[in-house]
Amino acid sequence: MKNILPTPLQYKKNSLTFDGIALDKIAKKHSTPFYLYSKKTLDLYYKTFFKAAVTHEIPSPLVCYAVKANSNSEVLGHLNKLGSGADVVSIGELKKALKAGIDPQKIVFSGVAKTASEILFALKCSKRGIYSFNVESIEELELINQIALKEKRIARVAFRLNPQVNAKTHKHISTGNKTHKFGLLKSDIIEALAVPSFWTHTTLVGLSIHIGSQLTDLKATVSAIKELSTLALGIDIPLEFLDVGGGLGIDYTQAERAKLASIDTYMKTVSEALHKYYYSKTEHTPRIVFEPGRILVGKMGVLVSSVVRTKTSDNCHFTIIDAGMNDLIRPALYEAHHDVLPATKSAKLIITDIVGPICETSDCFGTKRKLPSLKAGELVVIDNAGAYGHTMASHYNERKIANEIFL
Ligand SMILES: *Cc1c(COP(=O)(O)O)cnc(C)c1O
Repeated sequence: MKNILPTPLQYKKNSLTFDGIALDKIAKKHSTPFYLYSKKTLDLYYKTFFKAAVTHEIPSPLVCYAVKANSNSEVLGHLNKLGSGADVVSIGELKKALKAGIDPQKIVFSGVAKTASEILFALKCSKRGIYSFNVESIEELELINQIALKEKRIARVAFRLNPQVNAKTHKHISTGNKTHKFGLLKSDIIEALAVPSFWTHTTLVGLSIHIGSQLTDLKATVSAIKELSTLALGIDIPLEFLDVGGGLGIDYTQAERAKLASIDTYMKTVSEALHKYYYSKTEHTPRIVFEPGRILVGKMGVLVSSVVRTKTSDNCHFTIIDAGMNDLIRPALYEAHHDVLPATKSAKLIITDIVGPICETSDCFGTKRKLPSLKAGELVVIDNAGAYGHTMASHYNERKIANEIFL
């Protein structure tokens, strides 16, 4: 049972509660659909993650929370208080992280399409700029060097290595193979290091990897750390950090619950790989950077929705709710599973499809689910929606973006 990750949801008698408060009571004050986040749960996940890094003797760990998972200001503010840095992929995320108080020297900037204005802003956002531009192409490195030259600054850069491993996850969220647009091949990194004109106003401070998201099997992670270590040992530049990326998954389904690596197992695996392939072979001790997203925020959030009506079509039964794929796109985009829970439990269940209001067949949160027969106005909760929920919301069908409540 060790793999069951804590969540804020719990039935008390037959009523669903969130952080111990009846959901009906919370929903009275807000119009549905809305996202509901638990600060207590966020706190627990961050502390568990950081503590595990310390326990497993990771050298001066730095957690750079992947802002794209959930960029809510209060979430970022709280993570800042806990000591977290940020992994950003746009100027918008960078500005939000800075506004939340995150130290620029704890911010890494990833992404294949950093523009000149984004690079300029990141370079000038503090005396030393950001902690690292995680560079994903030679062209980007050249541009950073040019901009830094013009500004008479030195840009801190790290190469994102494409370790050519196949992470076992949905094909849309696997990023570590050479057919993917992310990162640089080892041979290209070694070539770039030998071109002096790339390095007049840049300094190599680290190497990074990120092989995919919702990882449950850590074999690819170990292979990627091996590749990262081999490269780091092969270049004779004293690096300040090695960045092992993010990607640790959460349990959305029963099947995942059984095979998912816990935070402790993940950290133990990462630490053992780093010691085996890197630290045992050198005197040098760069710090380790982590870029967790989903594992820190996935479990702390739910999407609360009301039933609009039900409908039957021959022998199909539909429960139509007021949340749609524009609020939470993961089921439509990744065929992702989210549990849907009624606010009030009942022993009598029917088989139903839970669908939203959007004019798309893929606007469906679950087919053939067992739920009570619900009436208009009754509440349902879509579980595990703290990560890649609100940040991926859109105005499709001219709908409003759902509010976020941080309890
Ligand atoms: C998305 C992303 C992450 C976070 O991934 P999770 O699966 O949410 O942990 C980390 N690093 C980079 C570069 C990313 O693009």
